[in-house]
Amino acid sequence: MTKSTGFICDESYFWHQTGNGALNVNAGGWVQPDTHAENPETKRRVKNLLERSYFMDELKQIAPFLASREHIELNHSSSYIENVKSLDEAGGGDIGEDAIVGPDSYEIARKSAGGVMKAVDAVMTNEVQNAYTLNRPPGHHAEPEDGSGFCLFNNIAIAAKHARKKYGLKRILILDWDVHHGNGTETAFYEDPDVLFISIHQENIFPKDRGRVKDVGEKKGEGYNVNVVLPAGTGNAGYLEVFKEIIEPIADQFQPELIMLSAGQDASRFDPLGRMLITAEGYYQMTERLKNIAEKHCGGKLVACHEGGYSTAYVPFCTLRIIESLRGKRSSVQDPYDRAFDEGPFYQNQQAAIDQVKDTHATYWNFKSE
Ligand code: ZN
Repeated sequence: MTKSTGFICDESYFWHQTGNGALNVNAGGWVQPDTHAENPETKRRVKNLLERSYFMDELKQIAPFLASREHIELNHSSSYIENVKSLDEAGGGDIGEDAIVGPDSYEIARKSAGGVMKAVDAVMTNEVQNAYTLNRPPGHHAEPEDGSGFCLFNNIAIAAKHARKKYGLKRILILDWDVHHGNGTETAFYEDPDVLFISIHQENIFPKDRGRVKDVGEKKGEGYNVNVVLPAGTGNAGYLEVFKEIIEPIADQFQPELIMLSAGQDASRFDPLGRMLITAEGYYQMTERLKNIAEKHCGGKLVACHEGGYSTAYVPFCTLRIIESLRGKRSSVQDPYDRAFDEGPFYQNQQAAIDQVKDTHATYWNFKSE
């Protein structure tokens, strides 16, 4: 088996326009035009760091393809796709809460989905062991009939459905560690026992009233939707405990054939849209644990795609560490923001949050008693 790591990116990903708002708010009214939070620089600087550090030479660069309309229809209604297309042709506008379509966004969003699909193909055909897609726009908030939270098409849901259709997979595990709840992905598989969705997110940020612990899936999918809701301020130690106490035992029972990761680096300690405290090294450690799960159950098959992350200074270092772990090799880059942060404190309220998830899911999964 090859041990290489694929890297999928495309210049067009940086050309999707989100306007000149400030943070997540459109300019106008009382808001002076600024740089929108979901702008190309947070992601382009990831690619720049990979090139500047020559770590790109360690990766197998793979070109994405343009997902067809039929591909996008794996997860979205025909009328919604048509709305995105029409809005693009009309020069752009809003297509949901905090979801912006700009000129050419229809094509770019199809290529963003095609990038994650291509990563699935590369991993499933053993062209590479694992892969990271640095794609934009992100996808995990996009609902079948609606855009949301900077997302137009749900890249990871489309790619997971592609994986199931093309390779006949029966058990796919999707982990979403973006600081916001992966509502669109949850919706896509809420009644589906073949795709186990685990979202780790900060409580009560976005979207409103989604991602509750008690939302465990419905019908045949009951038990296959796991929301891990953590209090603001959770850092490396709390997240690693989630892997140990929740994700690893569930994965051992589910035995995934493929693992997919919605990699949002907005749980970092410098993110303007989240209040978590993960460091770049924390992202490395989490990826190590996820990679170990993939090696244990599915020959290391792991597909990661980019979601949120809004600190232009820190997203590059966090994402580099994830890619280093995937590759199984360290770069020479030092995290200049790492003032010897350790794993961070682990508070009782974080343990309580973990225990609540374990109690809620005790009827579906066995957890080791401490
Ligand atoms: Zn996010």
